[in-house]
Amino acid sequence: MKKFGVLREKIPFLALLSCCVVVLAISGAVKSAEESKSTMAEASGKQVILLDAGHGGIDSGGIGINGVYEKDINLSIVKNLGSLLTLSGYDVVYTRTEDISIYDNGVEGIRNQKVSDMENRLEIVERYPESIFLSVHQNQYTDKAYFGGQMFYTTNNSGNFRLATIMQNKFAELQTGNDREVKLIDNNLYLFKDTKQPALLIECGFLSNENDAANLSSPEYQKKVAFTIFSGLTEYLKEVENKESINNYGETESFLYMQ
Ligand SMILES: [Zn+2]
Repeated sequence: MKKFGVLREKIPFLALLSCCVVVLAISGAVKSAEESKSTMAEASGKQVILLDAGHGGIDSGGIGINGVYEKDINLSIVKNLGSLLTLSGYDVVYTRTEDISIYDNGVEGIRNQKVSDMENRLEIVERYPESIFLSVHQNQYTDKAYFGGQMFYTTNNSGNFRLATIMQNKFAELQTGNDREVKLIDNNLYLFKDTKQPALLIECGFLSNENDAANLSSPEYQKKVAFTIFSGLTEYLKEVENKESINNYGETESFLYMQ
């Protein structure tokens, strides 16, 4: 029974893979050197991890109870995470590596600049259909008692719930008393609405909570959060790999049986 369960899950994954290859082949003709780099990475078997540090530049995101800007915490965690992933042999792509908003030149007015920034982030997400997409943010709420990281996912990819669950468990290990549950993202979340690759919105904690805000402002804790995300992601990837090898074994077994 278990074998068939695995096989059923494998089919959409394969369908998605072949679909992505087609998309990549079409867009490859018109895209920049950056994409060629990604295509080369995929050809060499390197998994692409796309990291999005939420907000930046004119958009500070949430402001902590201690005055810290969400955009700065997001960037620090993402850079630490990116280093860990690069050292481990992944091909890491970032939406930003500086305190900037990535709107087009010539766009005026904060509102328009924010729209342009989001459009450009989405364009990067779509440019790497074979990636795993992680967007890092910090939460806030009117009730200052709320604390702890929480994972948000869509059902656009069959692996998202599992990725979210593994990641949530890793955050529970880091943050004592964090019993938050993974949550389905509303359909209106721009970057995730039509994102087909495995994708996760990671809210690392609440800047409206005194303890979370203090922790998340500390460079040491930011490194711990980065390692937590790194551990969750690698555990998920290992699980996917194991499923594939179980599946391959299953196929060989059926083949032999048929002989
Ligand atoms: Zn945010």
